Amino acid sequence: MATRQDQSMMTSLPAVATMLLGIALLILAVLRWRDNGWGALVWLAVFVVMCAIRTPHSLRNRANVVIEARRDAAEIALLTAMFVTMMVLPLAHLATGVFAFADYPLPDWATWIGALAQLFFVWLFLRSHADLGRNWSPGLEVRDAHELVTTGIYDRIRHPMYAAIWISALTQPLLIHNWIAGFLVIPAFAAMWFIRVPNEEAMMRARFGEAWDAYCARAGRLLPRRTT
Ligand code: SAH
Repeated sequence: MATRQDQSMMTSLPAVATMLLGIALLILAVLRWRDNGWGALVWLAVFVVMCAIRTPHSLRNRANVVIEARRDAAEIALLTAMFVTMMVLPLAHLATGVFAFADYPLPDWATWIGALAQLFFVWLFLRSHADLGRNWSPGLEVRDAHELVTTGIYDRIRHPMYAAIWISALTQPLLIHNWIAGFLVIPAFAAMWFIRVPNEEAMMRARFGEAWDAYCARAGRLLPRRTT
């Protein structure tokens, strides 16, 4: 059944409280930058940029009417695991040092690789949000007048946003030198990738049929491909 997303994440009370807590942790984390290292400072800056890229799309897409949503227990668990490992654990640790017992040392060159990779991440994250436009949603959803996007960054890759998140996940442990706050996002996103992507592709095939199959034949899943 079609539902309009009136009860938006951005307007509900718990969401506002979460956002305020996030901002408080962010300020504390910046103040502790000498303890956390410069890599953590880069991670914090990119985190703010990531929120700035996504928020306008979240606000605009509230007006979309959802025709189909695949929100089963696995999907909720995966989204929760990503929220915890990509946001909660890093912010909590950088603000308080709570997981300091799980710190590991890393040479400066490794942190540099992580920092430089963020440029590519931000570009890919920005492009994929811009090109997917009103068809973007954090969960698996089909909207009214949902269009199959096959141009721009989607011309050659089917999952550029997930490619961006792969870069972010794989480099988070290079910026935050901690097994809990830095590393755990890798298994969390690997689970997301291997469980969600087949579901998402099945949903797109059910919705767009031959157009989706033709798109799959010419665009790679994670890496660019062009056969024609
Ligand atoms: N997997 C894509 C999009 C992630 S956002 C990427 O990594 O870039 C997830 C939502 O995007 C899904 O709910 C689906 O409805 C929508 N979606 C995914 N690919 C799409 C496409 N090519 N055109 C339009 N919508 C798409």
